[in-house]
Amino acid sequence: MKKISVLGATGSVGQNTIDLLRRTREDYNIVALTGGRNIAQLAADAIELQADIAVTAYEDLLDDLRAALAGSDVEAAAGEEAIVEAAFRPAFWVMSAIVGAAGLRPGLAVLEQGATLALANKESLVAAAPLLLETARANNARILPVDSEHSAIFQALVGEDRSAVSRVIITASGGAFRDWPLEKLATATIEQASTHPNWDMGQRITIDSASMFNKALEMIEAREFFGFTPEQIEVLIHPESTVHALVGFKDGALMAHVGPPDMRHAIGYALNWPRRDTLPVERLDLAAIGQLSFRTPDLNRYPALGLAHQVMEAGGLSGAVFNAAKERALDHFIGGRIGFWDMNVIVEEVLNRQSPGQSHKDVSITLDRVLQVDHLARICADDVMREQANRK
Ligand code: NAD
Ligand code: MG
Repeated sequence: MKKISVLGATGSVGQNTIDLLRRTREDYNIVALTGGRNIAQLAADAIELQADIAVTAYEDLLDDLRAALAGSDVEAAAGEEAIVEAAFRPAFWVMSAIVGAAGLRPGLAVLEQGATLALANKESLVAAAPLLLETARANNARILPVDSEHSAIFQALVGEDRSAVSRVIITASGGAFRDWPLEKLATATIEQASTHPNWDMGQRITIDSASMFNKALEMIEAREFFGFTPEQIEVLIHPESTVHALVGFKDGALMAHVGPPDMRHAIGYALNWPRRDTLPVERLDLAAIGQLSFRTPDLNRYPALGLAHQVMEAGGLSGAVFNAAKERALDHFIGGRIGFWDMNVIVEEVLNRQSPGQSHKDVSITLDRVLQVDHLARICADDVMREQANRK
């Protein structure tokens, strides 16, 4: 039986992971499940899957978690350190489906204990890829990509000579506002931004899809994880979300991954890797779909894509600055303190102030440096927001 943990188990990717585990329950021993404020879900899943331990990120919820687990054998714990400890518990395969840079330390702990890290938490790669990759190498651990586009690229590269790759195309649905007039975007509300045309995901990544910050993070993720150059990474709007990514080779061939917009595909591939196994995803009826469409994204509509290029060129710790500024701007948008378009303005300004190109390039990427840069970028994002508010 394989020992498995799921970090961020109560979220969208976490619940899809649990759905797969539940179907082949007899193959797995569940070590740890972690979550946030949804104690009822966390406790119910931990009891059903007979996990060793359930952990909430919030210390004030420990009593609630204990009460919800009463009468079961599941241990309860709470707080950031408890999540890192749970991630460090010996396991064969650990899903990291925590949202945000909060996933970095738990992800490192998974790699330090030598487990396979199935990584949905793209923010940790954007902020600190060299650290994650080096920790994996030093501990003989493996990272498997779970973001659907990166799983698609990973699958398209199986058996291929990497030096024959000439380009990679990441597709984007275009998000909630793909057909809105540009001048209307500034008025977009939180509710409007929180509805995705194709994918059912957590609120933060759904809003990031509307602003295309999600795709910006994914470009950086592709650069860092696979080592593509910025020039090799292209983005196409593909409203059907059926082709997840394409890898182009020097002979002109494009290898595409085609499937329904269902995260259980990418999660299941990572879970069963290097084998393939039956997955409960829809079988596509291409004749019924009829046609698939692609178009070039308008950079005026999606400034995040241009910023991603700036970050990829700058390298070093600029990914940590970019991600933290984006997370903070998103907090302010969700909190109703800024408008939708202001997120672009804040992130660009923080990048200009905190990541002046070369200076971050040669700095070695330690955990302390990443956390420090992340912290300063969040403060800077708050400063920029206040300055903007004063000007209005
Ligand atoms: P979600 O908001 O639905 O779930 C997030 C999970 O993280 C929850 O379990 C929550 O309790 C936990 N969490 C939140 N803050 C935390 C903190 N500070 N410390 C510890 N745990 C915390 O998010 P999601 O949509 O499932 O996305 C999870 C990750 O996967 C993100 O990095 C996202 O970008 C990535 N991703 C998601 C999808 C998708 O389909 N939802 C697709 C590709 C990649
Ligand atoms: Mg994705």
